[in-house]
Amino acid sequence: MDAEWREDQRRRGHAAAVALVEDGVDGVALSYVDNAGVTRVKAVPVARLPHAAAWGVGMSPVFDVFCVDDSITAGRSVGGPAGDLRLYPDLDRLVRLAGQPGWAWAPVDRYAQDGAEHPGCQRAFAHRAAARAEAAGVEVRMGFEIEWVVGTEESGGFAAACRGPAYGMTRMVELDEYCRDLLTALAAESVEVLQLHPEYSPGQFELSAAPLAPVAAADQVLLVRETVRAVSRRHGMEATFAPTVVAGTVGNGQHLHLSLRRDGANLFAGGPGRYGLTAAGESFLAGVLESLPALVAILAPSVPSHLRLVPSTWAGAYRCWGRENREAALRLVTGSEGETGETANAEVKCLDASANPYLAVGAVLTAGLAALDRGSTLPEEVAGDPAALDPAELARLGVERLPETVESALSRLEADEVLPGALGEYLYDAFTAVRRAEAALFADRSPEQVVAATRWRY
Ligand code: GLU
Ligand code: MG
Repeated sequence: MDAEWREDQRRRGHAAAVALVEDGVDGVALSYVDNAGVTRVKAVPVARLPHAAAWGVGMSPVFDVFCVDDSITAGRSVGGPAGDLRLYPDLDRLVRLAGQPGWAWAPVDRYAQDGAEHPGCQRAFAHRAAARAEAAGVEVRMGFEIEWVVGTEESGGFAAACRGPAYGMTRMVELDEYCRDLLTALAAESVEVLQLHPEYSPGQFELSAAPLAPVAAADQVLLVRETVRAVSRRHGMEATFAPTVVAGTVGNGQHLHLSLRRDGANLFAGGPGRYGLTAAGESFLAGVLESLPALVAILAPSVPSHLRLVPSTWAGAYRCWGRENREAALRLVTGSEGETGETANAEVKCLDASANPYLAVGAVLTAGLAALDRGSTLPEEVAGDPAALDPAELARLGVERLPETVESALSRLEADEVLPGALGEYLYDAFTAVRRAEAALFADRSPEQVVAATRWRY
């Protein structure tokens, strides 16, 4: 971050600001996701963008220990009112927000005032993991399936905005202009949408975004969620991405698909292993499978996550893998015969939107890359719903129920061989402090109370 870098940033920020003004944009929202999974923001008027690009925008490090209810906990080296960090917009990702005309948005990297990378920056963690993949000669693409529910808060609880059935065309007719506006808004933001459909729960929808490089995929999650939220509001509805919207019903997942290539060849197709897995592809997946209980601490990190992550709801509540098995936490997707070289990918299902998407992509990559060239193999696959198998069969297959509480997931994370080290001391400490504080916060609350307290936070 020398003078030359800052001058270059200022120039780029100025050029971007000129173009934004021409397009009638007044403000630029600069956001990131904290350890509670909440998107926090600072905004600048367009005229201030060049300065923000060169010098960042101030924000306290205490947000590293903010909880979902905005209470503040403390870690070993973070907490309290002192200190400042700088949020630097990534100008390569600057987008005009189609759902909020007059606004643009960019994700940020967080640095200290002396120009050092902030050890708590979740986006930097994702960047580091992506760089390790690149160094290993692996080209990674990641795509999220984003689920949400549209409705309104009524005195009696939550009321869905449409009445049609699961996957029902009726819902798309009820909300036809809304669905169309979503597609046009995302297209205007250059988000490539693969699919949009009504999901299982009342008022639930899902959108799959095209795969991108890991950090870009996480950035895209922020953009898609804010666009969905904004377009929903323009239609008089509220969107929620909370893992559980109504206690006891199917929740919102945010499944992560990943494809890996080496020298242009798909590591999940054309190999000698089961369903064409290559040795490296299988080993990567074995690494993810091995770390899944620990990964749950990051992928399904909140108290309401565990109301969602239950058997027989397609959430992926068991540590097992299976081809096209929607109850397996790790699903191998081969695609249609004839195009598997293009399409074969793996899906991590035990993930929801209370996860920080940067921590999620970084953690999954870390777990897989640690095993990439280790020659690890996957165990026997599970073909149906593991919940239907008796305990002896589950034990024979080595299948375990994923952690059922925040605390048990955190102890698996603590024991994991690679994840705490990859997060680094500061980020690991701040993240686990938040997760423990939230577990304590909700310890005596009923599922209904947990859901009511978190429904509109994600
Ligand atoms: N809503 C389910 C979940 O909580 C996922 C349904 C699906 O497979 O898309 O993860
Ligand atoms: Mg779905």
